[in-house]
Amino acid sequence: MSHSPLAGLDWDNAFGRLPGDFYTRLAPTPLPEPYFVAASTTAAQLLGVDPDALRGPDVVEPLAGSAVLAGTDPLAAVYSGHQFGVYVPQLGDGRALLLGGARGSDGNLWELQLKGAGRTPYSRMGDGRAVLRSSIREFLCSEAMHALGIPTTRALAVMGSDAPVFRETVETAAVVTRMAPSFVRFGSFEYFYWRGEHEQLARLAGHVIDGFYPQCRDAGDGAAPYLALLREVARRTALLIAQWQGVGFCHGVMNTDNMSILGLTIDYGPFGFIDGFDAGHVCNHSDEQGRYAYGQQPAVAHWNLYCLGQALVPLTGDAETTQAALETYTDEYGKAIAEVMHAKLGLAATEPGDDALIDRLVGLLHDNRTDWTLFWRRLSRLRTDGEVDGGDGAARDLFADRAAFDAWTVDYRARLRREASSDAERAARMNRVNPKYVLRNHLAEVAIRRARGDGGEPRDFAEVERLLRVLARPYDEQPESDDYAKAPPAWAGGLSLSCSS
Ligand code: AMP
Ligand code: MG
Repeated sequence: MSHSPLAGLDWDNAFGRLPGDFYTRLAPTPLPEPYFVAASTTAAQLLGVDPDALRGPDVVEPLAGSAVLAGTDPLAAVYSGHQFGVYVPQLGDGRALLLGGARGSDGNLWELQLKGAGRTPYSRMGDGRAVLRSSIREFLCSEAMHALGIPTTRALAVMGSDAPVFRETVETAAVVTRMAPSFVRFGSFEYFYWRGEHEQLARLAGHVIDGFYPQCRDAGDGAAPYLALLREVARRTALLIAQWQGVGFCHGVMNTDNMSILGLTIDYGPFGFIDGFDAGHVCNHSDEQGRYAYGQQPAVAHWNLYCLGQALVPLTGDAETTQAALETYTDEYGKAIAEVMHAKLGLAATEPGDDALIDRLVGLLHDNRTDWTLFWRRLSRLRTDGEVDGGDGAARDLFADRAAFDAWTVDYRARLRREASSDAERAARMNRVNPKYVLRNHLAEVAIRRARGDGGEPRDFAEVERLLRVLARPYDEQPESDDYAKAPPAWAGGLSLSCSS
């Protein structure tokens, strides 16, 4: 047992009070000589923990899974899910261990999970480990998404070890400490449904409703709370996906076991932020069919909700009302994406022709492979009374077909004039929703190479820290970090990401 600053946390493992067939209790497999890689100050503060204290060996050891924290009772949860459209009867925490729930400084319970802490009964062919590369990516992106205002699991820290891990090449091991109110997935429900274990299914739904959707109980008796739950999950999922689309985030592996019942971004793997816009962009090299392409994400989320809906039919009573509840998604997504796009364009009101204006622009961005992030940021500088949008750093410069963009701006300017838009106010509004800084692949790659000490250099985590700091304020100008807002350099063209992590 360790007496680190984390030992002072007030633990309460609600998930661990569910029956034994929801999980397997087991201790992490120690990693040799763990070392500190990075920690998130804001995540630490959420737990009421001094961020500087996370560097000490009494924290590094337990967060690397090399010691068990007093007050915790680690377990691996079981779930299943549809992977690339195919039902897989048993998945589960194959390399993650839930430590329990810790009372945060916000009064809420935050479940802490160690990802990469060794094999579990659900590891299948896997080694139970995570490599430093993907752990840094998950850590940075979790915190970056949070700073963008997008629902996500959080990341407290990354600890590393020189223990070898075999992927396409030999890499080294790391553990990310993730935080979320709950790690329950759509696949957690599918597991009990497909096994015909309806009593357990009801227990799980009760756990989720009581803990996170208590208002669903007000919907009435019988099937009503479960239908209310489905509607609420559909609504949250719709909001999440609309936000992903807005910032150009591609998840890469939207299997139902990677869909959070709380509508959080979860399980960061081969994700990517789109640089040059392509609606068909596929960030996961292993996704040969493009099932999880950027433009498919809204439809895939709906399909995944159908899997959840089907799993809940024993509780909701019949397929038809379940299906009707799932239609919430279509309505909510339509509303949410319209809101997101209006905000990105700095439009205060809505008009009947807006959809066409937006579609035309997205088509232009696609045809010109315009950098998604740079474009929206630059668009805020366009003046309503300008003739053409010229000059240094103008949005126009991002298009090969400038005439087509100029034609679009004629209509956009007319639209802005109709709502008497003030240039300065609109620019400020747009810059609050269009980030200057996102975790582009090449930025993560530079930080990873330095952290690994590629080329025989000593390990250096300063770039991870620097990137974390820049990404913590994605909407601020931060002129000293302008380089982090640039389109990818030529060398980054060859970067490829697979499921292997
Ligand atoms: P993912 O799609 O990456 O979230 O993972 C799918 C399933 O594979 C989950 O059940 C994971 O726990 C499991 N898994 C992935 N990588 C490993 C690994 N290296 N060792 C054990 N299980 C793994
Ligand atoms: Mg997963």
